Amino acid sequence: MSLEPIAAAARAAGPEDDGLPAIRLDTDADAGGLVAWFGADAARGAARVVIRGEEAGVVERTALYGLVANRTLGWGDSIGATLPGHPAWEPIKLHCRVPGCPPVWALGYDAAAPPECTIHPGELLRPAQ
Ligand SMILES: [Zn+2]
Repeated sequence: MSLEPIAAAARAAGPEDDGLPAIRLDTDADAGGLVAWFGADAARGAARVVIRGEEAGVVERTALYGLVANRTLGWGDSIGATLPGHPAWEPIKLHCRVPGCPPVWALGYDAAAPPECTIHPGELLRPAQ
């Protein structure tokens, strides 16, 4: 799955969405990570998605699962088999230094080049200590 259907399934974020966790999706492979993030906790009903650094809106669990369920595999497609013993995705919870800023989940993190908060430009996101 690529990121475009996720972007298309996202709805505009409103004031009621303040405080939702954000998930950064930078590559098509991260699409599976978003599914895994929802799958890891049944209480997760929605998330803001940041696709390639841009706020893309809010994705509801049901909308995402609808995308996955309706997907048909074509010739050469792969469901994303992974090596045994390695978790497919380990989302990393990142925090902005601004109090009250919701956490951001990323599927990869480079300490030498931490991502910026999309709400507070200039603030770098870092894992909790
Ligand atoms: Zn922030």
